[in-house]
Amino acid sequence: MKYALSHPEIRAAVVKLCAGFPGAYWRDLDQTQAYPVDFVAALTREGYLSALVPEEYGGSGLPLSAAAAILEEVHRSGGNAAACHAQMYTMGTLLRHGSDAQKHAWLPSIAEGALRLQAFGVTEPTSGTDTTALRTTARLDGEQYIVNGQKLWTSRAEQSDLMILLCRTTPADQVARKTEGLSVLLVDMRDVKGKSLTIRPVRTMMNHATTEVFFDNMPVPAANLIGEAGRGFRYILSGMNAERILIAAECIGDAKWFIETATKYAGERVVFGRPIGQNQGVQFPIAKAYAQMRAAELMLAEAIRLYEAGENPGEEANMAKMLAADASWAAAEACLQTHGGFGFAAEYDVERKFRETRLYQVAPISTNLILSYIAEHVLGLPRSY
Ligand SMILES: Cc1cc2nc3c(=O)[nH]c(=O)nc-3n(C[C@H](O)[C@H](O)[C@H](O)COP(=O)(O)OP(=O)(O)OC[C@H]3O[C@@H](n4cnc5c(N)ncnc54)[C@H](O)[C@@H]3O)c2cc1C
Repeated sequence: MKYALSHPEIRAAVVKLCAGFPGAYWRDLDQTQAYPVDFVAALTREGYLSALVPEEYGGSGLPLSAAAAILEEVHRSGGNAAACHAQMYTMGTLLRHGSDAQKHAWLPSIAEGALRLQAFGVTEPTSGTDTTALRTTARLDGEQYIVNGQKLWTSRAEQSDLMILLCRTTPADQVARKTEGLSVLLVDMRDVKGKSLTIRPVRTMMNHATTEVFFDNMPVPAANLIGEAGRGFRYILSGMNAERILIAAECIGDAKWFIETATKYAGERVVFGRPIGQNQGVQFPIAKAYAQMRAAELMLAEAIRLYEAGENPGEEANMAKMLAADASWAAAEACLQTHGGFGFAAEYDVERKFRETRLYQVAPISTNLILSYIAEHVLGLPRSY
């Protein structure tokens, strides 16, 4: 694959770092569903997870394209950045909507890696994709909020000190629109874990460190309210373009790993006296996945270009995420099929990456919801839900 990629020096350095964490490292963790502590420590030490924190708060102040390049290369190397990608972008809610005092209080330690902000509590078991139907409440009581409720799929809560939490501060029947009355709190979980905050791991088909969390009269200082009360839904939405773009970059990285792995194997595996890759039936799915990946990569580049020009590329960021997730899934399928029975053997890493990349059809946003965004907001069709 010979085409210019942005930030070649950063990419080369990430590839070098990832070489210290080969397939065997990820396989061992996958067996026990253990957290990649050493890998995350290495990324933190090299400053990659603070790429998006502005320099005035101790970060590297890099553009989104650099963060996308970092995540893509982790995935292209056979690793999985899902264990820590949120440390890069969850702070965006604080950065964009927090007060100066909050930013100075939290961001330098986050940039340094001393404080981990990689838990994002939005999804709940009953509301699902219908975020504004969430039931977790925060009631102001003097100088603190009292939080009650439950979140599901709060990834990395056990490996995080802070959590960005979306909860209802005004009951839904007292607001004009249900997008109103929701607020964002920055929860310092160190103060409440094991007391009013319970975290339970949820075992999933891939190694993802995800959890369910329960709030039982959990106190949060009123000073930890981000922005204005009642405007939280808008604050969460404002971070979605960056998230879509970064997840799309991970999918592109996965697609490249699958395509490169499949191509190499197809060239080496000899059956009927010739490499299997000589058969068009083997070549074509890989070639098609490559074309899909390149198209998705162009859409991603366009989304990043618009984002970095200060625009609001909702259309492009959503399409990039959907096309990249589709490309990574097509590449995963082609790679597994190319490997025949060996695709199912753990030591080839194909089945692990196959399980990992499947997630992107569902989270952080499902394909259907992207299609309905395009139908409604781009094509002007009636809202379907
Ligand atoms: C491993 C993992 C990690 C996650 N990490 C986090 C996290 O850190 N923080 C967090 O807040 N959330 C997290 N999530 C939650 C994730 O964002 C949701 O799973 C996802 O948004 C889908 O919501 P749901 O699971 O409730 O599905 P549902 O909303 O129940 O939807 C089920 C299916 O129905 C479809 N559907 C629903 N409504 C419509 C409609 N109107 N039109 C068409 N189709 C529809 C959906 O596309 C989906 O395929 C994670 C999920 C997983 C699996």
